[in-house]
Amino acid sequence: MAKRPATFRPGNARPLAERNQQADARRGSASSRGYNARWGKARQTHLDRSPLCRWHEHDGVIVAARVVDHWIPHDGDSAVFWNTSRWVSLCVECHSGRKQSLERLGLDALVTMGRRLGLDL
Ligand SMILES: [Zn+2]
Repeated sequence: MAKRPATFRPGNARPLAERNQQADARRGSASSRGYNARWGKARQTHLDRSPLCRWHEHDGVIVAARVVDHWIPHDGDSAVFWNTSRWVSLCVECHSGRKQSLERLGLDALVTMGRRLGLDL
């Protein structure tokens, strides 16, 4: 089995725990943003019903989903957060990669691609 190469970090890089604390201070902790036990149960129910990455499935590739994404960013709005018609099962790669890129393009891009994926937007 191939050995993973060592990760390079500059000497002045802050440890992950410290970076996470600072991110929480900026945007609020995960639980304060609604990611609580209720979310945990709802997320698992969604993944049980929709276990494949929707974006990869659209591309004709079968990949297990690990993330339930709020396709339209909820920005702390509880009604948007719990609007299950906008939840999408994604793999980690799609969630951290092309979905983040799409979000940077703005709402029109999200709506266009979301409709291609079959979301009712
Ligand atoms: Zn994917």
